[in-house]
Amino acid sequence: MSAFLGLQCHLCKTFFAAEATYVCDRCLGPLEPLYDYSAIALTREQVASRPKNLWRYRELLPIAGEPRTGFNSGFTPLVRCDRLAARLGVDELYIKDDSVNHPTLSYKDRVVSVAATRAIELGFDMLACASTGNLANSVAAHAARLGIDCCVFIPDNLEAGKLLGSAIFNPTILAIAGNYDDVNRLCTQVADRYRWGFVNINLRAYYAEGAKTLGFEIVEQLGWRYPKHLVSPVAGGTLLPRIVRGLRELREVGLVDGQLPKVYAAQAAGCSPVVNALEAGLEHPEPVRPNTIAKSIAIGNPADGYQVIQSVRATGGGGAAVSDEQIVDAIRLLAETEGIFTEPAGGTTLAAAIELVRRGAIPRDESIVVCVTGNGYKTAEVVAKQLNDPVRLTRSFKDFETWWRERDARLKASEDVRLKAPRYGAVSVP
Ligand SMILES: *Cc1c(COP(=O)(O)O)cnc(C)c1O
Ligand SMILES: [Zn+2]
Repeated sequence: MSAFLGLQCHLCKTFFAAEATYVCDRCLGPLEPLYDYSAIALTREQVASRPKNLWRYRELLPIAGEPRTGFNSGFTPLVRCDRLAARLGVDELYIKDDSVNHPTLSYKDRVVSVAATRAIELGFDMLACASTGNLANSVAAHAARLGIDCCVFIPDNLEAGKLLGSAIFNPTILAIAGNYDDVNRLCTQVADRYRWGFVNINLRAYYAEGAKTLGFEIVEQLGWRYPKHLVSPVAGGTLLPRIVRGLRELREVGLVDGQLPKVYAAQAAGCSPVVNALEAGLEHPEPVRPNTIAKSIAIGNPADGYQVIQSVRATGGGGAAVSDEQIVDAIRLLAETEGIFTEPAGGTTLAAAIELVRRGAIPRDESIVVCVTGNGYKTAEVVAKQLNDPVRLTRSFKDFETWWRERDARLKASEDVRLKAPRYGAVSVP
């Protein structure tokens, strides 16, 4: 028995059957799944006894039958980061690490697991998406495993690692001359005419629900409590409002109580329509033309921007936009303090958290969760030029010893504290 009832308009609350429809025909509002929460009797023990993947919360996910994919997606580490916390001067800091999500190393494996399962239930034999890179990787991988046809649409200027991360699964890749917003417009037209399952267009209501699982897991991994502050990246605006929705639902079904965390939106200064709107007091973001190294979150016209703004305001949170330089510094800081290698989207989120602490918006003595959503191996070029070259030696032990003695002497003679502490020290932290 499923508690999933169908779809409902987020704005006017009109009910719709659970099909591949995504906008309300009365008010053009977005549709979202509706559940009978009173029919959900889920205990902490039950959840804990299930396999460690995103389907452990399946009563709160919009599928009718059994999951078809994603059996290793989700339940990524929540890492307590004491070394990073010390550098930032905060007491309790966690990274929710979706950079190691399975199988394609980003948060997108959550949303695609749900959308692909629903696509099969609804009888689609083509899985498709409009993507800034990570979504295409995930759709291509899940389609490969399910054995269904796949077409991914991307802007034609993506990083080599993002392109390869789709190509290896051998989907049809359509690289469009334009930015993500152009790609999305084209895909909306294709979805109107062809019966294809576009995970983030006509299957968007199902897709978005997969993102709630990131919030569910944070609460469970903290020992069934809310953090005080949570920082999330924002691109199209799927993730942040669904984290908040998921956090509310856990309380609704009695798995946690207390006050929701304050939730903050992180964007790159080169593409910050949502943060701009938050600061200007607007309800809807004004579209911008993206120009940032954080390509996976470079969406100038976010489909769910309104919902992001509502969620942030409802929790008493805020937002911060950070420069490309701050993003790269944060990528390096996270790597050198915690051994986690993220892409610019993760750098953006950490840099925004640092900025919010610096401004006093996030107090230093309260718990903070920073959502790291993608993996740095896909975007090596953004840091490659800044990193130390290897020490090149011959095979001789004597050469090794000479090098080691010289290095020691050099360090002792040097006044440069950064040389004495060879770990990255350039980030100035509040
Ligand atoms: C897609 C993506 C996001 C967030 O996107 P939303 O559209 O706002 O859900 C964040 N980080 C990475 C790495 C992504 O690929
Ligand atoms: Zn409506």
